[in-house]
Amino acid sequence: MKISNLKNIYVRTLKSMPERTEWAKKEMERVGIENYEFYYNIEKTDPIIDEWKDKGLIKLGPECFQCKKTVCSCRAKVVTKGIVANFMSCIFLWRDIVNNDDPDDSLYMILEDDIYFQDNAAPALNYIFQDGFLDNIPKEPVLFKMGWGDMLAYRGTHFEVPIGKHVFIENSDKFSNPCYVANKRFFRYLTDNFKQIHGACDMWVHREMCQGVKHFELFPAICKELSHVGMIKSAMHTKYSEATKMQNLYSTTKDPQYIDKFIEAERRYFDYWFKYAEEEWGITW
Ligand SMILES: [Zn+2]
Repeated sequence: MKISNLKNIYVRTLKSMPERTEWAKKEMERVGIENYEFYYNIEKTDPIIDEWKDKGLIKLGPECFQCKKTVCSCRAKVVTKGIVANFMSCIFLWRDIVNNDDPDDSLYMILEDDIYFQDNAAPALNYIFQDGFLDNIPKEPVLFKMGWGDMLAYRGTHFEVPIGKHVFIENSDKFSNPCYVANKRFFRYLTDNFKQIHGACDMWVHREMCQGVKHFELFPAICKELSHVGMIKSAMHTKYSEATKMQNLYSTTKDPQYIDKFIEAERRYFDYWFKYAEEEWGITW
């Protein structure tokens, strides 16, 4: 099935993580979305990252990138190369969209390769973006948040509804990493306002930049992401969710092997954050 009225559907993935690309391919097949293409992200080993660093396009302290303080107790204080590579990949994709010949009102969908859709996503999306949808969008930057991580706080937003029952709610605090739709004007708004990478891309787009423009969230979400719940490996950095998953497995199975796995996962997580700055950027503190 083709999703109508979207100029393109990009699935962002990495050449170095073919298992994620494969997952996305199967997931698109499962729900029956045919008109999409893979967009290959920059790898965190790409020398272009150091070129951007040398040009001053990446802010690496001295203050913490999360809380903006010079002395703090955040585990991660410097953006990782994974965070930077992800941010740069987004910018390059948005620039491709901005520089194409499509009209300014054109809509694009951007997905992550760890996406997990509701079963009826394809016909539901076709209904949402039916003919006439574009006529109701103002001639200004607009973002539609279509799905987000299945966190406890958002649990009430992840369930399947019949075709035609989704609604858009204006203003949203969600980070719609797994799937968002925006018009070309929105992508131009992002590329025009980008100056420097100073944190994670999702924070910048879905929190900071959203403030200035019209944005909506879909209720309920059409999808969630798997890396958030530790079911698929994160491409950006070691996440604590791997430890949480082991803890949950222990609670449900009472199998002591999950205690060891939990301890290992937690150690990997802390080791990563304590060592990454030195190893990745050659910075010593
Ligand atoms: Zn901090």
